[in-house]
Amino acid sequence: MFKYNSDFLVVMNKSKLEKTITKELKGIELLFNQDLRTFSTIRLGGIADCVAKPKSLEEIQALLTLCSDKDIPYYVIAKGSDVILGNTDGVLIDVTRLSRVLNVGGLEPGENAKRKILAMEEGKIVGMEVEAGTHLRKLSRFAQDYGLSGLEFAVGIPGTIGGAAVMNAAVVANSTGDILDYVITVSPDGSVIRLSKEDLRFGYRNSTLQDGYSGYVVYSVGLALKRKDVSEVRRRTDFCLDARKHQPKGNSIGSFWIRRNYKPFKDRKDDHLYIDDIIGMPPLNCRGWSSENGLVYIPDNYYAVSFFIVREGATIWDLAQIAKKVYDAVRDKYDGLRLEIEGKFLGLTNKGRPLGKVFYGVLTDKYPLQEVKEELTIPLKQAA
Ligand SMILES: Cc1cc2nc3c(=O)[nH]c(=O)nc-3n(C[C@H](O)[C@H](O)[C@H](O)COP(=O)(O)OP(=O)(O)OC[C@H]3O[C@@H](n4cnc5c(N)ncnc54)[C@H](O)[C@@H]3O)c2cc1C
Repeated sequence: MFKYNSDFLVVMNKSKLEKTITKELKGIELLFNQDLRTFSTIRLGGIADCVAKPKSLEEIQALLTLCSDKDIPYYVIAKGSDVILGNTDGVLIDVTRLSRVLNVGGLEPGENAKRKILAMEEGKIVGMEVEAGTHLRKLSRFAQDYGLSGLEFAVGIPGTIGGAAVMNAAVVANSTGDILDYVITVSPDGSVIRLSKEDLRFGYRNSTLQDGYSGYVVYSVGLALKRKDVSEVRRRTDFCLDARKHQPKGNSIGSFWIRRNYKPFKDRKDDHLYIDDIIGMPPLNCRGWSSENGLVYIPDNYYAVSFFIVREGATIWDLAQIAKKVYDAVRDKYDGLRLEIEGKFLGLTNKGRPLGKVFYGVLTDKYPLQEVKEELTIPLKQAA
């Protein structure tokens, strides 16, 4: 989620930005000139002029109103488990301080609410509203304790419920869109807007929060869960967590490419191949491939061939190199098939161009690799 006006960004200079933000946004936790590598699970990133960590709906409103009045660009991040970050001129809004369960079944969370909900008949639909930065693992276990089913699948996804709503995070056939009822958002001009499930038009790893409502910050998410036996919910949650054991350790955004069945050959009727077969099996078999310096690599594991694992010292340039190698190899071996990227790019390169545009441009040969080496080398911009 980001908001800027054109391919090239002109914002007020850093010291003016710092003065304006500090003066106008009293009480909000602010960090200036931040190295962003620890803000995403893939541990790549540029420098943020300013990171703001709101703790309430009102603080988000104050932030967006200021950004709108002063024409300051902003980006939103949660756990950073599906983003690749460049430089962020303007404000990076980190929502992970917003992590409270606001209500369960219309009640304030606590022993009293738990007792009442556990006394409800099985099968009853119970609403729950949580702040967007709540971690999915914590939330799944919370729901389990209240005998509420629907979030079991999310226990092993290393993101937040807000990020999951934006991305329609899913595991096999269970997706966030299935259990979501509404979201409370703040629009770019600072207004509070409730969006329904229908407004969000969930698709595969997609929702309108990525385009139509781009620039809206999700404050909270309303879920519709089903009352079930606690031990049954626990069993299912444990099972879902256990199923993640095969996933490789290391810094990544999980699957880099969208994982789905592809039809790799235009003129053959029969073959729909799963992405793991295309990348991880002969004739291609990219398992173990790496960037030239070995700092970004594909694990030698069939179930993780769509991951790129990043070692310390790697740059976005290294990621671009290996991603291009895989993208080109698939296109050449499989009749022009184009892999699609799942993760989101936020921020700018050293030349002030949107990181995503340049990265996609590298894959599609719009920007030759050698030409963008400087732009994609980290630290993209030296911290002062
Ligand atoms: C090891 C690993 C395994 C993974 N497995 C899965 C999986 O099985 N299934 C799956 O679907 N995904 C998976 N992912 C990807 C990722 O965890 C999910 O997409 C997750 O939902 C992202 O949540 P996040 O809080 O980290 O969001 P971020 O990565 O911080 O943000 C993702 C996008 O949402 C926007 N955003 C986040 N919060 C808000 C908000 N409050 N308001 C407005 N915009 C917001 C950001 O701007 C960005 O565009 C995996 C990732 C890793 C690292």
